[in-house]
Amino acid sequence: MSDSQAPGAAGPPPGGRADLIIEGAYVVTLDPRRPVIDNGSVAVVGTKIAAAGPAGEIRASFPEAAERIDASGCLVMPGLIDTHTHLFQVLGRGLGDGLELMAWLADFMLPMAVHMTTDDVVAAVRLSSLMSVLAGTTAVVDNHYAPTDTATTLAVAESVESVGLRGAIARGVFGSRVEGSDRMGVPDELHAFTAAEELQILDECLEQRPPGSRVEVWPMPENVVYVDLDLIAACADLAERRDLRWQAHCSEAQEEVVIFGEVHGERPVEWLSRAGLLGPRATLAHAIWLDDDEVAAMGASRACALHQPVCNQVISSGVMRLRELVDAGATVGLGTDGLAVSGQSMFEAMKSAYGLHRLARMDPTWPPVEQLLELVCRHGARVLGRPAGVVSEGALADLVVIDLQSPRFQPAHRPVAMLALVGHGSDVRDVVVDGAVVVRRGRPTLVDQDEVMAKAREAAERVAGAAGLEPLRAAWIDR
Ligand SMILES: [Zn+2]
Repeated sequence: MSDSQAPGAAGPPPGGRADLIIEGAYVVTLDPRRPVIDNGSVAVVGTKIAAAGPAGEIRASFPEAAERIDASGCLVMPGLIDTHTHLFQVLGRGLGDGLELMAWLADFMLPMAVHMTTDDVVAAVRLSSLMSVLAGTTAVVDNHYAPTDTATTLAVAESVESVGLRGAIARGVFGSRVEGSDRMGVPDELHAFTAAEELQILDECLEQRPPGSRVEVWPMPENVVYVDLDLIAACADLAERRDLRWQAHCSEAQEEVVIFGEVHGERPVEWLSRAGLLGPRATLAHAIWLDDDEVAAMGASRACALHQPVCNQVISSGVMRLRELVDAGATVGLGTDGLAVSGQSMFEAMKSAYGLHRLARMDPTWPPVEQLLELVCRHGARVLGRPAGVVSEGALADLVVIDLQSPRFQPAHRPVAMLALVGHGSDVRDVVVDGAVVVRRGRPTLVDQDEVMAKAREAAERVAGAAGLEPLRAAWIDR
């Protein structure tokens, strides 16, 4: 987020009539000037937050409101932001446990991806988007790579938006095969388009969904190891020209850094830095195996690293240098990543990061819970490039209401700590995105939940049959 987009800079004038007021809550603002407000209210006008403050003050400033949500006994916070996921993978949920990465790809994920039709993808993305929003996520960045033609990419964006989410489809770009494709065993089906075709499809998508759309389309050279470097540079250039972000998987496995070095003679982030491609628009998924110079380059350029603690542990790929990246000045968003191996909850991601980094550093003092909330909200908004992630005047009205009356939250000595330590998606009661209520009392307002689940189950059956996943569906696997 540039300074000119900062919340508070250009909000609607205070006072008068609000479209929505959420009142009487414990408000966690993530605004350093006033981090929490006990018995607070939030007034929304249009798509933005008009004011947040003590309930009495807000009632005096906004005597009228088209809608009021009584949030007494609840906590209100900015919507959680999932900066890297693969929504289509939900159709394989629960399958592939215990496989090595290469077998996981060859025997499970890639056959599944290759056998999904546009209708299957839509059914999958609607279900996972619904799970996201029900768990308090208000924005997702979805890396989609199955299939990536114009019509399917746009259908994915439409599906994400259909439940009320904002975000971006980071469309997987592969281009022609390169040496890294062979070294990493990337199947031909994924290298389906030439570089020129990839850029043409992105242009077509951007014509339908221009930058600034509720769900944008971003270029995503799928992995710096198996995409031609000129095509990666072209994607970064497209993002610069069109005022978008771009994403890439980068330095997730140690082996990727080795292969990149053998092919190109330097490290991945070292090359990105030397090529002038690092900066706030560069959002690198995983960014685990970085040396000191690469961490410094990420920080100096204000580039974004995307941390998926659940997936990193399941795949055993490594531990991100989270503290060093944050201290260097990089933006670090959290994500859920592959839905075949993780839930779709940013509470799970926060708790997982909390434990992982304490153990890895043998340091029970870091990260504090406040740091995790900063990452998932404020840093997440920076990854998106939107003025969100904070409850303050002028910010986008993306808000979550969490019920503190469940046994899990009692006694609520420190609600901020409870969010990271015991918070769960099922505690989310209401969700507001762009000023509109998209979840009310735990139910979606824009889609029929039973229908979404039924369509996804049908698609999962069809895809499992077509892709030969039956052996993976055994009820109990001895090994
Ligand atoms: Zn990923």
